[in-house]
Amino acid sequence: MKYYSLNDYDIKASFKSAAITGIAPDKGLYFPESIPQLDAEFIKNIEQYSNTEIALRVITPFIGDEIPQHILKKIVEETLSFDFPTIEVEKYIYALELYHGPTLAFKDVGARFMSRCLNYFTQDENKKITILVATSGDTGGAVASGFLGVEGINVLILYPSGKVSNIQEKQLTALGQNITALEVDGSFDDCQDMAKQAFLDEELRNINLTSANSINIARWLPQMFYYFFVYKQLKHLGKPLAVSVPSGNFGNICAGLMAKKIGLPIAHFIAATNVNDTVPRFMETQDYKPSPTIETLSNAMDVSNPSNFIRILELFGKRFESLELELSSNSFSDPQTLATISKLYKEHNYLADPHGAVGYLGLKQYMDENPNYTGIFLETAHPVKFPESVEKELGIKIPVPKSLQPLLKKEKSSICIKSYNELKDYLLL
Ligand SMILES: *Cc1c(COP(=O)(O)O)cnc(C)c1O
Repeated sequence: MKYYSLNDYDIKASFKSAAITGIAPDKGLYFPESIPQLDAEFIKNIEQYSNTEIALRVITPFIGDEIPQHILKKIVEETLSFDFPTIEVEKYIYALELYHGPTLAFKDVGARFMSRCLNYFTQDENKKITILVATSGDTGGAVASGFLGVEGINVLILYPSGKVSNIQEKQLTALGQNITALEVDGSFDDCQDMAKQAFLDEELRNINLTSANSINIARWLPQMFYYFFVYKQLKHLGKPLAVSVPSGNFGNICAGLMAKKIGLPIAHFIAATNVNDTVPRFMETQDYKPSPTIETLSNAMDVSNPSNFIRILELFGKRFESLELELSSNSFSDPQTLATISKLYKEHNYLADPHGAVGYLGLKQYMDENPNYTGIFLETAHPVKFPESVEKELGIKIPVPKSLQPLLKKEKSSICIKSYNELKDYLLL
């Protein structure tokens, strides 16, 4: 499979080159040159296949022969080494829990898949790659854990000092090995600016710097798997499925829409956002107008200019009439989010995190007008990661999962930096 740049269809790259560089030379996002079609028999009999078998079938056409099947199979197996349960919350309303991976965030799947692909691609060339990521919390942890111990790859994580939770900080700073945490005296925006500057810096050309955000196709595409897993689990209910995705950079929902294009029968998608509502407004007015980013409780979705939205437009041939048939989008405030966390816990005995609560709200709003569906909202992070909102709102203490406890006992280790020049000196070391 070849990928073209969304800025210039003549710029093309292999899966390998697109995965290593992340972004096209003209700064465009990569997009697959053709949309593969899955065999209808496979979809019909999906219950008979394991998650690994499904994922392998789904991803293979996007990679072609660039990774041999037996290695790709191993990559997929390692990527999916945990559960993706659907929990019934109300009659015909389900949560798809994507937070049972090592860092309790759905980004684990993309990060694990990408790290193993890069590991395969660098092996034969004796190449070293440095991954540089700026994080406001969740992404950094998933990337650090996904790349931990992967040979040929160094990971540098920029995070804002004092602005991530205790669990998140341990996930960034206590792993050791090939992971280095750079603690920035500043905000998340400062971290992101430093990373951007490094990617543009001519003097750093000789270092193979790459990013690990959802712009990278190797992180974006494996997110299609979730939608096949939920279909496999809920198809027997016999109703069309509507899936609500709490969205920030719109990578996850774009993967869901891609899953549908290659043959998965999901009837409708809902992109639920917090008050950073550029896309819900676009769906009303067809006018794409990002406004300044607002901080919210669902902070992994505090994005006002979602990078992946351009891929969604491409997927629908830039025809708004086709897009609006398959995608709805709506936005919700922090007070609504808190009230929902409370309602879900008290009335349905379900513990949601702020992102999942936004997803639930989006689903309910859609199903109020379109009741004949089985509705699914994605739960993208474990509630224990958001004590400030969840525990405070409910007045309870959420036990920290056992899998996390060894990490919490480890020592934090970070390098403090104040300016871009300090980052650059470190990279040139
Ligand atoms: C990243 C993230 C999201 C948003 O996903 P996108 O693919 O950026 O839309 C939602 N919830 C959580 C917990 C996240 O970490």
